[in-house]
Amino acid sequence: MADQTVFTTPDPTVRELLATHSNLSLDVRSGLMLDGVPLQAIADEIGTPCWVMSADTLRKRAAKLHNAMKSAGLSVSTHFAVKSNDHLAVLSIVSQAGMGADVVSGGELIKARKAGIPASRIVFSGVGKTDAELRLALQEGIAQINVESAEELEILSGVASSMGREIDVALRVNPDVDAKTHAKITTGVAGNKFGIPYDEALGLYRLASELSGLRPVGYAVHIGSQILTMEPYRAAYGRIAELVRVTRQAGLPVTVVDCGGGLGICYRDEGEGSPEALAGVIRSELGDLDVHLAIEPGRWIAAPAGVLLASVILRKKVTEGSPFIILDAAMNDLLRPSLYEAWHGILPLSAHDAVLAPEEACVVGPVCETGDTFAQDRSLPPLQRGARVAILDTGAYGAVMSSTYNARPLAAEVLVDGDRWSVIRPRQKVEDLWANEILSEGMRVEA
Ligand SMILES: *Cc1c(COP(=O)(O)O)cnc(C)c1O
Repeated sequence: MADQTVFTTPDPTVRELLATHSNLSLDVRSGLMLDGVPLQAIADEIGTPCWVMSADTLRKRAAKLHNAMKSAGLSVSTHFAVKSNDHLAVLSIVSQAGMGADVVSGGELIKARKAGIPASRIVFSGVGKTDAELRLALQEGIAQINVESAEELEILSGVASSMGREIDVALRVNPDVDAKTHAKITTGVAGNKFGIPYDEALGLYRLASELSGLRPVGYAVHIGSQILTMEPYRAAYGRIAELVRVTRQAGLPVTVVDCGGGLGICYRDEGEGSPEALAGVIRSELGDLDVHLAIEPGRWIAAPAGVLLASVILRKKVTEGSPFIILDAAMNDLLRPSLYEAWHGILPLSAHDAVLAPEEACVVGPVCETGDTFAQDRSLPPLQRGARVAILDTGAYGAVMSSTYNARPLAAEVLVDGDRWSVIRPRQKVEDLWANEILSEGMRVEA
């Protein structure tokens, strides 16, 4: 594994993390609360590890994004990136908050429909959609398919024609813009697998207009994730605007620009991506094109809405360096620190723990991988066996990326809504781990 990112600023204190996480508060008696609901009470009843999502935060952030676009005078459809959190309860809340869905698989498409998101508000992205997934999209009559290659255009045309259907298609263009984010979440530079090379886009748009079953409507772009500054967006949208003009000059109509997702949040002290600034860039680069605009945010909506609760199994002393705080949550639950060297805030649930003078510690899970590390040499209040913590900003790319590695059942999920909470997914039972496993009886022989 690569070295952990080196930060130039000290780790934020408990107080600083609370200041940047407005849905969290610390009560002297009840400890850490999400929307005023004590997280200790949830952990007492449900146990740990346990994901907790805030319905209010999802609604507020969706509203904030919508208002930012409206204030900039833009009419923008918002499609929630289902891959960031595909729980039906979450999808249902964002749908009621006025969002459609951006899906990247047949499974996500079916979940979005199940959550009540109309097909007319679903867009299908991704570099490799199977024939069965394309058929499903056509059957459901979704709004648009974002096509990522010449090959996919031909395949989709074949599938649509064989079904006697037509579908709106946007070409996902790779604008060759570096989003200056982590290499594993950058998607818009030449040489990665996403999108159609900029120089080939017009040719393919023309091809799409000639193929049966396809109605090319415009272009889509998504340059990466956790983007905090507007320069990459400005550069990408500027290139797309140019492409729209060139396409129209070639006599081909363009009515849609899908601006993708990627707006970042404040995990540590980086500040969050501003929806108002994004709206400003969309308006200045694309506002005068007379196209229907769309965005596909995932992380910005869902990440700050969730925490992962965990308990300290034990505190392991080492002869040199920081002690290990070993949690009952692990990389199989929250993969981001292992996969992306992601930094997540960690707060004690107990107010008593929260006020202790900080020490440096390594916070790890019990999985048999060195990569199973949540925080390296992190300044934290000292945590003893049995102490509980919340790992912050885990509402996006959290539970959805879980596995059962090391035969660890999937953690429970809870939704807080106002002053009430309920379990939205019970902890997986250990028996479920092998429920679909078959001993090798009845083996077949190929003659
Ligand atoms: C992942 C993804 C998104 C969402 O990205 P966020 O960083 O979560 O906003 C949007 N569009 C596409 C095509 C994606 O692959």
